[in-house]
Amino acid sequence: MTGERTVGERTIGEQVVGEQVAGGGSGTDDFYGRLRAYEGRAAVAGGEGRDAVNEPMIRHWCEAMGDTNPAYPASAPPTMLQVWTMGGLSGHTGGSIRSEAYDELLALLDGAGCTSVVATDCEQEYLRPLRPGDRVTFDAVIESVSPRKTTKLGSGHFVTTRMDIRAGGELVGKHRFRILKYAPARRSSAAKERTTEVKEARRPRPVINRDNAGFWAGVAEHRLLIQRCTDCGTLRFPWLPGCGACGCLEWETVEASGAGTVFSYVVMHHPPFPAFDPPYAVGLIELAEGVRMISNITGVPYDKVRIGMPVELEFLRVDADLELPVFRGAVA
Ligand SMILES: [Zn+2]
Repeated sequence: MTGERTVGERTIGEQVVGEQVAGGGSGTDDFYGRLRAYEGRAAVAGGEGRDAVNEPMIRHWCEAMGDTNPAYPASAPPTMLQVWTMGGLSGHTGGSIRSEAYDELLALLDGAGCTSVVATDCEQEYLRPLRPGDRVTFDAVIESVSPRKTTKLGSGHFVTTRMDIRAGGELVGKHRFRILKYAPARRSSAAKERTTEVKEARRPRPVINRDNAGFWAGVAEHRLLIQRCTDCGTLRFPWLPGCGACGCLEWETVEASGAGTVFSYVVMHHPPFPAFDPPYAVGLIELAEGVRMISNITGVPYDKVRIGMPVELEFLRVDADLELPVFRGAVA
């Protein structure tokens, strides 16, 4: 990775659905001018990594991520960049290292009604790998404050901070973090309608797309279809575009015999969901063909469901638009 610049990005929150630069009134422009005055000011100053870059933390990370790259733990995965700057649950020694300027900016936004906050995305640049023994220092700057924007969540300003992370004085990475400070949107009539619908207790609808349409077409004909890779023959369920074993995108279907056993189950007591009447059992059913699916278990009281219990496929007509494959248990 030396000499390369890699950029990683992930989206945490809501997508911006519309953009609206607040203009018109000079008062609004004034306000944005006051926000922009914070651009370039420190958000964090003089941060020091709590621990040196170290092998145990790298190992734990790799284990949690399932990353078996042999380059680790001799060096740290680049995506651990932020890890070395974190203060832990008790915070950084000596209290908060956040600058007054950043607190002022947030207070200004609070005062304008932008009292909610959501992290929207982060972006990292890696300049050189960190290795065990490296001690990091960091500071952060308020890089930009956006004009007022309107999103599904509400209207407000995106605030981007950029943390520069150094080891031995050398810049090793940059971590950009963006939040939206916003005034929550008043609930739309569509959202209210959705709530009304929930009160009528309709079961949730399946999301049918081109990758799983064949499954639901099968259900409509009272057939439970399993995908089979045409290359290596591996069965898969739930439906996916490609084979997890060999990567092949070609597939055919096999109709399940309908026989299965309860591989595992949970009994739902709480939280309550509209259209479901707790307590009820949710089963992980192992089909005779070997794949497993999550479904309801019918015909057996929730407290009589047992692992290993034989079950048989049946189709449950939920309402005029929805039919579901479920499994009828047989109490011994
Ligand atoms: Zn395959």
